[in-house]
Amino acid sequence: MGMQMQDNNKPQHELNSSDNTCSAYVDRKPLHLRVRVLQGPNYRFVKNTLRQLDLHTVCEEAGCPNIYECFESKTATFLILGDICTRNCRFCLVSGGRPNPPDPNEPLNVARAIASLGLKYVVITSVTRDDLPDGGAAFFAETIKRVKESNPECGVEVLIPDFRGNWQSLKSVIDARPDVLNHNIETVPRLYPRVRSAANYMRSLELLRVAKEMGFCGLTKSGVMVGLGEEKNELIGVMADLRQNGCDIITIGQYLAPSKEHFPIARYYSPKEFEDLKHIGLNIGFSHVESAPLVRSSYHAKEQTGRTG
Ligand code: SF4
Repeated sequence: MGMQMQDNNKPQHELNSSDNTCSAYVDRKPLHLRVRVLQGPNYRFVKNTLRQLDLHTVCEEAGCPNIYECFESKTATFLILGDICTRNCRFCLVSGGRPNPPDPNEPLNVARAIASLGLKYVVITSVTRDDLPDGGAAFFAETIKRVKESNPECGVEVLIPDFRGNWQSLKSVIDARPDVLNHNIETVPRLYPRVRSAANYMRSLELLRVAKEMGFCGLTKSGVMVGLGEEKNELIGVMADLRQNGCDIITIGQYLAPSKEHFPIARYYSPKEFEDLKHIGLNIGFSHVESAPLVRSSYHAKEQTGRTG
């Protein structure tokens, strides 16, 4: 398994940068990563709505630093299929273990929450459900359908797992017609065995390519975390691979270890480095590059697609 994973995780591109320098920025958390803790009325309204409908968000489960800003602007990323993940990625705070069966009321409750919050754009993601034969694809499709039925104006972005390469599952999600299909590549292929050992770099690239080959005509999107120990040329390689596989939008943000037990931070990138990565991504051909220290794949998601209003 280990050897096979290494081979499958080799980069697809030709490395094309000689600038490999990654000098440490600072050891302690820099100022630009500090956030304002503000629990305003909208924050509380979002929290109450979620609890009343028994819903989870990745904002809470993954300890996202943007939660105060996003909830206050009535934005949230719904986490469907429960809050227990069957994988054990070393960067993620979501609990691992044996999940409960999916809640059949969840798709409708997500739609109700969106109506109650008045959202014009929503991101829906899930824990990885390798225990389910379809990886939870039917649940994604049902949730998209319910959301579009009761909130026809709302743009729907799904951030999906790799379904272990089951492209029939991918097709059932695509057939539900989300507006944006997001699948995070997360890190460079060299670090996969240590950071997300149950995933596969080539499979994730293939997912994005196959989605378009299947006729998905919305935008595809992916995201990477930086600061895990990758080199600059490796990051550029990942960007090139994503573009080669038809990916339209990329998000780039600083990795923050959720605890001492999680994968350690190798270093903090400076705001200038994020700006540089943005220009590199645009030159490579992405239609949008969201690159900043606190960017997460759902941060300002609506704006990334060019939608207004
Ligand atoms: S960036 Fe995404 S995950 Fe984080 S709080 Fe905002 S919507 Fe939630």
